[in-house]
Amino acid sequence: MQILEKAYRLFLVDLDGVVWRGKEIIEENVEWLRKAHDSGIKIVFVTNNSTRSRRLYMERLSAVMGWDVGPDEIITSGYAVAARLVDMCGRARVLVIGEEGLIEELVEQGHLVYTSMDPGSCLVDYVVVGLDRLVSYHKLWRAHQAIRKCGVPLIATNTDNVVPVEGGDAPGAGAILAFLERSTGARPVFVAGKPETYMFELALKLHGVHAVEALVIGDRCDTDIEAAKRAGMDSVLVLTGVAGERGELCDATYTVRSLAELQFQKP
Ligand SMILES: [Mg+2]
Repeated sequence: MQILEKAYRLFLVDLDGVVWRGKEIIEENVEWLRKAHDSGIKIVFVTNNSTRSRRLYMERLSAVMGWDVGPDEIITSGYAVAARLVDMCGRARVLVIGEEGLIEELVEQGHLVYTSMDPGSCLVDYVVVGLDRLVSYHKLWRAHQAIRKCGVPLIATNTDNVVPVEGGDAPGAGAILAFLERSTGARPVFVAGKPETYMFELALKLHGVHAVEALVIGDRCDTDIEAAKRAGMDSVLVLTGVAGERGELCDATYTVRSLAELQFQKP
């Protein structure tokens, strides 16, 4: 048993590999998170996955966690991109490579979404790229043209090269981004997902908490723990996901086989 050194006010919790692995719920971790929530610690789920909207995550997480998970308790990279665009230019016109979850978040925050565009019409302010499991050469070509012909800046939900799927992994948003980086020579002007820190900053702002009062809980060294380090936050590497499978370790503040090995202090 390890005891958390501080009474943290906010836990920033990754989903895949912490709360669930595909369809399988990781009960030990979920049980521990329920107790933390009951004791008054704020919990915000933070995921690089942009394919689902916060609305869908709220439904699934409420069922899994057993409390009403609200919109301020879930941040996806799609939501984060939409929020950042509001900051950058109010309402933006965006050409999107991505799935429904990303499009829903963009529309929700008032942006005008194009999924196709006449070549050379230069209608949009940004090209936004996320994981799109129906990506096609045609879609990539439209985005390529907007960037090359019109000089439209590129934004990415995240740079994950792969996503975990049953029986292994599959190409992630980073692989689609790499295609466009290669064809256009452009680099994204903004990336929302971990290891970037923007989603954590959003969560802190939303809940009025300082970085030193927050604890990041994740299963990956290269995203969760790295983002925590960059944001100046303490972190827990829980070996129920990617790092555990790969036998990876990194200098997280705490490392545990499951969250059940960790004892928290009430805020
Ligand atoms: Mg994960």
